[in-house]
Amino acid sequence: MLRHLSRATLTRGHAFATGAATPRIAICGAGVSGLTLAGILSNGTRDVQLTVFERARRDRDQGYGLDLDEHGQEALVRAGVYDRYWDISYPYSDTAVGYQFSGGEPLLNIFWPRLTMRLFPESSAARPETNRGGLRDILLDALAARGNTEVHYERGAWDCRRLPRGLGRLGAGGAELLDREGKTLGEFDLVIDAMGLHSPLRDPVRDLRVVDSVGKHYVGEMLIHGVINDIGKTCPSVAQRMDRFGTCFTLGRGYHVTMQRFGAGADDKRTCLFYHINRPDGEGGVLREMGIDKPTSRSTGIFTGDKLRAAKEWILQDMHESFDEVWRDAIRGLERVTVRGKYMHGDDTKLREGLTLPLVCIGDAPRNCGVGGGGNLAMQDANELATILEADDAFDEATGAVNLPPLRAGEAIMFERKEEFHVERLKPPMNTREMVEARGRGPFDWEDFREFNPLPSWVPFPVARFAVKRFAALTKAWYAWERKRGGGGTCKGNAPIYASVERLLAEQKK
Ligand SMILES: Cc1cc2nc3c(=O)[nH]c(=O)nc-3n(C[C@H](O)[C@H](O)[C@H](O)COP(=O)(O)OP(=O)(O)OC[C@H]3O[C@@H](n4cnc5c(N)ncnc54)[C@H](O)[C@@H]3O)c2cc1C
Repeated sequence: MLRHLSRATLTRGHAFATGAATPRIAICGAGVSGLTLAGILSNGTRDVQLTVFERARRDRDQGYGLDLDEHGQEALVRAGVYDRYWDISYPYSDTAVGYQFSGGEPLLNIFWPRLTMRLFPESSAARPETNRGGLRDILLDALAARGNTEVHYERGAWDCRRLPRGLGRLGAGGAELLDREGKTLGEFDLVIDAMGLHSPLRDPVRDLRVVDSVGKHYVGEMLIHGVINDIGKTCPSVAQRMDRFGTCFTLGRGYHVTMQRFGAGADDKRTCLFYHINRPDGEGGVLREMGIDKPTSRSTGIFTGDKLRAAKEWILQDMHESFDEVWRDAIRGLERVTVRGKYMHGDDTKLREGLTLPLVCIGDAPRNCGVGGGGNLAMQDANELATILEADDAFDEATGAVNLPPLRAGEAIMFERKEEFHVERLKPPMNTREMVEARGRGPFDWEDFREFNPLPSWVPFPVARFAVKRFAALTKAWYAWERKRGGGGTCKGNAPIYASVERLLAEQKK
């Protein structure tokens, strides 16, 4: 049973009806990595007692969508919720279309043709946009049906201290978790920090595990994002451009606008819009120009009413003449808007050597990975950590004490994997000064392509431009051909699934 306990009912050493030495694990953060880990461990082979502590309210907005890679999908199978995958994903949404700012002609289409699905099923497996709120809900539903997990909302973790051997349950030592007031949240054999990047300015639990001399800091790029609830009704011209594409984007000098479907299922027409701009002065500068006070929480950061009007007006002015009317319609159609900077941990972040506190950091908590893949990496971490914790030697049978060396080895691999994402993906694509100067120089032309040229730099620019133009034209013609024959994206049952996912599903059936 899943319990949402109030502060008053949460007691030290809360006992489940499991064996005395059943390992007790605290998971701090009910975000992507925390709930995925809870889902897998609660459904796994090892008898465990799990307690999840989440700072926010149960009904807090979860953001938009994620396209789950093989690791994310494997995690759903292991958590026992894969049967609901397509209920929370938008069919055919693993396709994209790119436009110029002006003019109605698409630049290119991105999709897996059916031929590729047949020839290379592994690389063209279904990967639709999955709704984050739906992901949270199916994991919570699964946890509610199991007897080994408690989830506490509005109960933040703030500190953690080591209990030496001889103390703690059965004298195994372990860790005591504390809230912000210094009150105990319980004693555990293992504490997992899954508190993401969006923990307080400095996350004291994270500080126990990593050394980061810079800490969470703004990287010069702003995301202004919002939602249109039913794009077909509110913005028919935009809906026509999006068609059933999962992602629709425009390219240009220093600007980048992306729209993405994130509905849970075919009938859910929610679409989000991201307006990316580079601003050295961050949220403060943009909000001042909008005439809006800095929000104090995630919920007050979701603008509606007068603030929404002010934000939309600002974006429309900022777009000036560069964008054609369809993109301006999308802005007018927004039903809520959030203004946020992009933040990252310090580049020199390192795992602390020789830590004996049974604390492990996963997901964005040790080192964040940006908006383009951090969710999948967080789920991959959850998968790998669960595998380590399900090994025979993961805990001492008599006392429940955790075996730290395999955990530390696994954690180091997870940490290293994020290096590439952290450094390459989160840095603004150009230096901020160049971006700011480039903005306002007018609509996209193929000269801009120098900035996003996917070909090696030794290819002369005119050759690269020609090749990409031809390739883009081919993608459009091929997509049109596919659509006529029922292709162009995946829906339930019409596309390959990852071999590893299939293998896990087959194992579960046995
Ligand atoms: C706008 C946006 C779009 C993105 N798009 C994508 C995408 O398309 N694909 C992708 O793979 N990734 C994407 N990401 C990145 C992805 O969201 C993160 O990498 C992922 O959520 C990290 O998972 P996590 O579990 O580490 O942290 P989170 O999912 O952030 O979860 C952390 C949880 O910990 C809680 N918490 C914080 N402090 C405390 C505390 N003191 N005590 C208890 N709980 C606490 C938080 O409230 C939160 O619920 C996007 C990110 C953003 C901001």
